[in-house]
Amino acid sequence: MQPSRRIRPRRVAALASVTALTLAVGTSAGTGHLTAGTPTATGAGPISLARSSPLGPCMISGRPTVQMSEGVPTARGYARSTGTVRALTLMVDFPDAPGPGNALDRFAEFFPKTQEWFRTSSYGRLDYQARTPISGWLRMPKSFRAYGIERGAPFDPGYRQLVQDIVAAADPKVDFRSYDFLNVLVTPNAGPSALDTVLSVSFAGNMEAPVADGVSVANASFVYSRQDDGSGTYHRTGYRVLPHENGHVFGLPDLYTAEGGGAVGHWDIMSEDWGANNDLLGWHKWKLGWLDASQVRCATGPDPSEYALTPLAGEGGPKLVFVPLDRRSGYAVELRTREGNDETVCRPGVLIYKVDADVDTGMGPVKVHDSHEDSGGCTRSPNVHAELSDATFVPGEEFRDTKRGVRIAVVGADVGGEYRVRVSRE
Ligand SMILES: [Zn+2]
Repeated sequence: MQPSRRIRPRRVAALASVTALTLAVGTSAGTGHLTAGTPTATGAGPISLARSSPLGPCMISGRPTVQMSEGVPTARGYARSTGTVRALTLMVDFPDAPGPGNALDRFAEFFPKTQEWFRTSSYGRLDYQARTPISGWLRMPKSFRAYGIERGAPFDPGYRQLVQDIVAAADPKVDFRSYDFLNVLVTPNAGPSALDTVLSVSFAGNMEAPVADGVSVANASFVYSRQDDGSGTYHRTGYRVLPHENGHVFGLPDLYTAEGGGAVGHWDIMSEDWGANNDLLGWHKWKLGWLDASQVRCATGPDPSEYALTPLAGEGGPKLVFVPLDRRSGYAVELRTREGNDETVCRPGVLIYKVDADVDTGMGPVKVHDSHEDSGGCTRSPNVHAELSDATFVPGEEFRDTKRGVRIAVVGADVGGEYRVRVSRE
């Protein structure tokens, strides 16, 4: 038995360089597909929205220098996040770290749980298919040590070599054109314990990536040693590192910062991917195309307006109100309850957070407003940021930004579980 340990904040995922993103926009990756096909019309979701639509003022964007932005629509080059996506999933080991047992047991640590997590979170809009055309361990030609995998930058020499070796080893049995992105499940005995150094990382939208079968391996998630926090829940929740890493592949930034999960707590898997299960913010669901335009309201008018909200985890109904402050930022308002992927919600209510598309991944692009500051929170779940767990607003409570003249009041909740909020500007 190991004492329960707080897992260290993960490092910010290595990301595509600005150049790579610019390239991505200029290439054919319209669907974010690994294939180098012709640009196609994008599917459901914010990408298909015109800026002239009623939601236009809420389609905030960051400056081009922001590598991975909360802006809507998501920059091109990432993997598609609606419909059927095929994840080429390879289990990889090394001469100095041979994979223990059956490689498909490693696969089973993540599937079908990851697929189910995405199905639940997306209301069935993302049909995630993990494929293992190679069912055994894919042995790399060099030792793990030789690749020098540390806190790598995107496709630094070690990673570039590793991806090239993975491609070379898999190529005889794999047509890379058939997949939307790559999952590399590294044998857990390679490298340091995740309690000491979290190596898991994703390369997203990287068009400078190595090429396989004529397509760039632009979107790839790597998972290393197990993030077992010692709380005894690993067998249920340890897979959640993969939905987090895949979130990057779909274009979502990291919400934890160098200081940890204090900005968003356990309200999004891009903030905390260990401990109990959690969902994504409504903003992310809109960004990923899992909410229809009719489920999002853009609160622009000068007059006070009331809006209905249904629980974010449940299917159908209004889910997100956004109050734009300027072209780059605004307040998001949603109703969080304990259902679906939201396992630890201990104070159901309206979550209010600021989204700033001009703040880069890992620098705090989202900040949750705590309705009960310094309360210590209401959760006792291990590895859940406690302070923000009671951040929600309930009927009778009001959020105010006096500087920007925005008031968001929770005015009621009906027996059916629907809440009403009133947004006003002073
Ligand atoms: Zn991350």
